[in-house]
Amino acid sequence: MPARETLRSWFHRPWSLALLAALLSAALLLSGSLGVAMHQARQNESEQMNAQGERFLERLEQLFGQLREGLDQLEAQPLRDCSPAMTETLQQLSFNYRFIYQAFYIDAVQSCSNRPSQDAQVTSRVPDIRGPTYSYWLNTSTEPNDNLAALMLGRGQFRVSTSRGHLSDVVELPPGGSLLVVVDRGQRAIPVLGPAQSWPPLGWSEKKHDPLVITPSELIYRMPSQTPEYQLVMVAPRESVPLPLDPLWWWLLAVSLLIACCIGGLTLQLARQRQSLNGELQGALRRGEFQVLYQPIFELASRHCVGAEALIRWRRPDGTLTSPDLFIPLAEDTGQIRQITDFVLQRLLDQLGQLLRANPQLYISVNLAACDVMVPRIGVVIADLLRAHRVSARQIAFEVTERGLIDVLVARDNLQALRDAGHQVLIDDFGTGYCSLAYLQTLPVDCLKIDKAFIDALGHDAASSGVAPHIIRMAHALHLRVIAEGIESEQQAVLLSSEGVNYGQGWLFAQALTAVQFVELITRGRRLATRRLDDEA
Ligand code: C2E
Ligand code: MG
Ligand code: MG
Repeated sequence: MPARETLRSWFHRPWSLALLAALLSAALLLSGSLGVAMHQARQNESEQMNAQGERFLERLEQLFGQLREGLDQLEAQPLRDCSPAMTETLQQLSFNYRFIYQAFYIDAVQSCSNRPSQDAQVTSRVPDIRGPTYSYWLNTSTEPNDNLAALMLGRGQFRVSTSRGHLSDVVELPPGGSLLVVVDRGQRAIPVLGPAQSWPPLGWSEKKHDPLVITPSELIYRMPSQTPEYQLVMVAPRESVPLPLDPLWWWLLAVSLLIACCIGGLTLQLARQRQSLNGELQGALRRGEFQVLYQPIFELASRHCVGAEALIRWRRPDGTLTSPDLFIPLAEDTGQIRQITDFVLQRLLDQLGQLLRANPQLYISVNLAACDVMVPRIGVVIADLLRAHRVSARQIAFEVTERGLIDVLVARDNLQALRDAGHQVLIDDFGTGYCSLAYLQTLPVDCLKIDKAFIDALGHDAASSGVAPHIIRMAHALHLRVIAEGIESEQQAVLLSSEGVNYGQGWLFAQALTAVQFVELITRGRRLATRRLDDEA
């Protein structure tokens, strides 16, 4: 598929990768910082509204308080007619209470107020809200005349009203906003100030108790009223949340772009390094720059060498060593790991074939990569080599890491085939992956290698030093052998031995040795053992 190939090769170019990384990270960081800034703007918006609402409520309560107090005073005094004394009482009341614009006395035959010229204003409407003590007339005038009554309260034969001017003085409504009095258990809303609003607004619920409800188009602030008959609600159209153009956003923008550039630059550098490493790896295989070393594995109780782990080394022509931790993951990605595994197997049998034939108890373990266990190929390769070198399958073990078991079902079959052929199978770096006990039980393995990290923690790190003993107990319960890797101190060796670990590997015993050194170690060990036997005889 040419289109797929072109895309693939595009992704392998360092510049395209760097550009993609920079663009992706810029998009991610920018949307993240935009999100943060928007959230901030929204937060400010609701904080503002909350503050405004609280101020608003306080002043309204003050206003209603005055109206009720005025009515209570009128009710308490004895006059019940339209005498000059009554006019004076009403006038005195409006004089005493700043928010009372008009005060009335009404009975079946007459009515009078503190402003005799405006008597006609007293409404004959039934009250909008009839409470146990007070009645309320809302929106008594829709005319934009500041001197007309906007809100009227009644008690007995008295009424007091506040003018639209007073009301708009105490409440500063946001532009386009309205003050509504919601009655009939949330069914009906009467505008007291500002334009009428469709009711109920989207997102409104009688049951919700948050004071502020934010819908895409409106901010609805519900005021906790002390009077059960009505609820005060302020509705303000929402300005579409403005793009946050405050300094915070500009800072986030600059930092995001800078980080995106750094990520792009870093990706470019890594991709170039990788590309050159990839090319070099191919050349190194061809030129034979790889070497196999053997790190001995000892029986902890007797300190006898029982085998070794084959570890690859890349020695460049200038003598520098490149760590397998660097090039093995790359070789796994490019598939060159197959050639490396084959090389290790071939080289180890060439170098140690004779030693293995002479010491049938000795074994060498070889690290396998994920792609080596996904196909049965390795079984065929090793079978041919073993036949050619007349070495037993028992003497070659294979190490797989938990991360290497990507598709467990396929891996399980291939590992089982290796075991059936006589090889041992080990789980390497155990404890660092995701192998659970249940999972482990189903895998065809003989031995666990406890990762160096847990051995390092022994006796040092109280939090994880308990992990190694757990792994050991678990392995024993599953009848698996245990090898501890990375043992660096005698104390660790003694501790592990007392915990029931049979085998160990680490710098305490030996570092990775060349084939010649390893052969020397084994033959010297044998000579010593023979001499000891002779002495005893
Ligand atoms: P690994 O298989 O877990 O090998 C153990 C690593 O720990 C080796 O590092 C070994 O030199 C190191 N080591 C052993 N004892 C000690 C100790 O006491 N202290 C310390 N600090 N380190 C110790 P190395 O050789 O650098 O290998 C690193 C990893 O590279 C190996 O981890 C293995 O995953 C991979 N690797 C090495 N050779 C091969 C190979 O031929 N094929 C594959 N697929 N992977 C390999
Ligand atoms: Mg290993
Ligand atoms: Mg390991």
